[in-house]
Amino acid sequence: MSMDGCIFCRIVQGDVPAREVFRDDTAVAFLDLSPKSPGHTLVVPTTHTENLTSEPAGLALMADAVTTVARTITDRLGASGVTAQINSGAAAGQEVFHLHVHLIPRYQPGQSPRGGPDEVLTQLLGS
Ligand code: AMP
Ligand code: ZN
Repeated sequence: MSMDGCIFCRIVQGDVPAREVFRDDTAVAFLDLSPKSPGHTLVVPTTHTENLTSEPAGLALMADAVTTVARTITDRLGASGVTAQINSGAAAGQEVFHLHVHLIPRYQPGQSPRGGPDEVLTQLLGS
């Protein structure tokens, strides 16, 4: 189910462009517009749910996608590690109220991929 006016629902539906990294029936992953590091990716359930405590529960819907994308980030971008973060609720810093997991690549000094988001996306897609 989607919710009118929700930017991430619109990305899921393909109505708003995003640099898509992964998609299956239950989750979509795309590059964050304001990356904390190159390759910073958001994973969202295709079903609209606000946060960790809301109904329907969304965390399990994203689990496989989080694993797949975290592996892709380490394999294809050369990240040494990945920080996975969920801000659930305004008090936790949530700004977009469609549940999402931040996957923030962590690099050794000098190991960040070069180029802008389009080059990073190309590298992530392996094309
Ligand atoms: P949060 O504070 O956890 O709700 O984070 C929301 C994140 O969504 C921020 O890191 C934003 O940069 C990111 N964001 C907002 N709108 C878009 C968009 N249209 N495409 C990609 N990332 C977005
Ligand atoms: Zn939504």
